[in-house]
Amino acid sequence: MIKATKQKERPKPFLFPEFCKACGRCITACPKNCITFGDTINPKSGLMPVQIDMELCNGCGLCLSACPEPYGLMPQVDNHEPIDPKTLFGEKNSTASKAVRVPDEVLPLPDMNPLIIKGTYASAIGAALAGCRHFFGYPITPSTEGAELMAKILPELNGVFVQAVSEVATVNMMYGCGGAGMRCMTFTSSPGFSLMLEGISYMIGAEVPGVFVNVMRGGPGLGNIAPEQGDIKLACRGLGHGNTYAVVLAPSTPQEMLELTMLAFQLSFKYRHPVIILADGYLGQMTGKVNLPKEMVKPGLPDWAVFGDEAHRANLICSIELSEQDLEQHNLHLMEKYDRMISTEQRADCYFCDDAEIVLVATNTPSRMAKGAVEELRRAGIRVGLFRPISLWPFPIDAFEQSISEARKIVVVEAGNGQLEDEIRLAMSKAGIMNYLPIEHIQRYGGVLPSKQAIVDQILAKEVQQ
Ligand code: SF4
Ligand code: SF4
Repeated sequence: MIKATKQKERPKPFLFPEFCKACGRCITACPKNCITFGDTINPKSGLMPVQIDMELCNGCGLCLSACPEPYGLMPQVDNHEPIDPKTLFGEKNSTASKAVRVPDEVLPLPDMNPLIIKGTYASAIGAALAGCRHFFGYPITPSTEGAELMAKILPELNGVFVQAVSEVATVNMMYGCGGAGMRCMTFTSSPGFSLMLEGISYMIGAEVPGVFVNVMRGGPGLGNIAPEQGDIKLACRGLGHGNTYAVVLAPSTPQEMLELTMLAFQLSFKYRHPVIILADGYLGQMTGKVNLPKEMVKPGLPDWAVFGDEAHRANLICSIELSEQDLEQHNLHLMEKYDRMISTEQRADCYFCDDAEIVLVATNTPSRMAKGAVEELRRAGIRVGLFRPISLWPFPIDAFEQSISEARKIVVVEAGNGQLEDEIRLAMSKAGIMNYLPIEHIQRYGGVLPSKQAIVDQILAKEVQQ
């Protein structure tokens, strides 16, 4: 007679919910369909861990092998549910402290002849030289040529170009790529930028870098494909929900499209934060001479990245904070970061401002008309200067205060209905410049730019009246 031996019971899995990243690999691995996606957010991780039906489980252990998390799924010990993973299984075999920051390398470039290229191309080349190897975007005029060039050059650089199904998909791909510590960007234009705002708020909340080049066009609505400056308030004051700000850089030449795009990547990783390049339709399409830099960047890897290797396994990128106290602390942390940006990232160009009694303020393409107007008015004997903010947020209030020290009035020249002027008024108010000078403006809308002659005529007409 053969004696039946009692089969040894195999250990069943135990789930530590706070370590489950909800990747679903255990669900696929389980032959008994015991595991399903969860529907409750774990407050420690901000994710929704899976659920296991132990009645169905036969202890095959396949889910244990499938789980990539060191403490995600573990075998139950002596039918006691493990409470402290460290006591039962020893120290976690992957910790954030193991992740070592790999610094960027700066590599010299050979001397090259200047290029004659569009602003969008200059920006794309700047991105590649700054180490950007990932592009996500949805084509929209007048920004599309930038994406088109990235589609050509990224495959040659072992990079990735993805045309997303929409701008909403784009920004969420950037969230993932930036969260992995990789440099990524998009080109878009005003209606597309509006669609990205929610995702930008998520990136700010989760402290994820990424560069957005918005080549502004006429609005509101679909508007037209001519240049306008109607997105200044969105970029400076309306980056999605919550207490959100980001550095906003406004180029005025193809050369600056390249240089400011390179700077944008540097700042984006310096602060772990999105950076916005705000260009306009003419600037995107305008062809100009562009000198290439003497150096390019070979990107490293930040220690905070969710890179997908063992060293970075314990990292988590997430913008959810369910506790009010924790979210307030996170907001205070972001506000401290905004203060650092305000004190160190103000940029401006001052042209004949030292003795100017009339200071024009303009940015992007309208600043080129304003510059021409300054030269013509100076020839007519009127002391006019141009203040060109390069960072729209933070507004370069320190340099502006100096520029208007001899002035009797300010004239804001813009292709929009006062969004730049609002930034100036707000910056002066916050800086405590209460008795500020009279502010006049020269505005055009819907894709029409203020002309040099219109600026000259308006200044001259007002001077004659006085
Ligand atoms: S041990 Fe086997 S049966 Fe049980 S949950 Fe894991 S994969 Fe499914
Ligand atoms: S494999 Fe691990 S981390 Fe992924 S869902 Fe299952 S338990 Fe969670």
